[in-house]
Amino acid sequence: MSVTKVRASSWAGLFDCAMRWEGIHLLGMRNVVGRRAALGTAIHAGTAAFDTGRVTGDTLTPDDAAGVLVDKLRDPANEFDPNKDDLTASEAEATGITLLTKYCLEVSPHYQFAAVEMETKPLDIDCGGGTIVQLTGTMDRARIRKGDGGVGIADIKTGGTAVQKGAANIKGHSPQIGTYELLFEHTTGEQITAPGEIIGLKTKGKAETGIATINNARRLMVGTDTQPGLIEFAAIMFRTGNFMPNPKSMLCSEAYCPRWKACIFKDE
Ligand code: SF4
Repeated sequence: MSVTKVRASSWAGLFDCAMRWEGIHLLGMRNVVGRRAALGTAIHAGTAAFDTGRVTGDTLTPDDAAGVLVDKLRDPANEFDPNKDDLTASEAEATGITLLTKYCLEVSPHYQFAAVEMETKPLDIDCGGGTIVQLTGTMDRARIRKGDGGVGIADIKTGGTAVQKGAANIKGHSPQIGTYELLFEHTTGEQITAPGEIIGLKTKGKAETGIATINNARRLMVGTDTQPGLIEFAAIMFRTGNFMPNPKSMLCSEAYCPRWKACIFKDE
């Protein structure tokens, strides 16, 4: 048996461009980020600190959370190139703090969170042919929400198009929600009973937040009696070692894909 450990938070990227995902997560190719990506990471750190405080009772003010954001922005954990995009340090800080404050005051209080970025129990996926993929780690950027509608996943997404026409942009986010729903049920033995939610925080132009729901994300992963789910397609890729390219991916660019230069499938 060969067991490949995969970070649960990266798994959904496999269904965007699998070849890019293989480059980063299996072949260890470096993915240097610019300030825009670092801003996203910093906003996530600030919102996670704020929401964790709400769960544990060790409450943070929006100003405290902004401090977490600024620290993260000034010292990004990933490979970082400040010249990779056009965002200046002061613009990034101002945008980040505005959005984070809006989130803390206007979005987070509407939720009752049971867990923030929950640690999951490793989940084995048997791909056949002696290949096992093990999903591990935390549900990065997601919360478990509980309320009248039941238990559901809320996943925070940042980016220039994260909010469109007042609602969160859900395009391409179902695999992430579906993965987290499976992992939550596997870890806790509790059923997900509410639709998934994307909380969008728009980092370009006017600071905006928006929410939208995602239904049937779990079904997308596991399939139905008559149709295979994404996990079955993933199993074929791991078993054969053939990871499909997707030149239509939003991340198919030199800025986001370390395979860009050598990839023959990109649009030229
Ligand atoms: S260049 Fe585009 S198609 Fe090729 S691996 Fe990267 S994202 Fe995928």
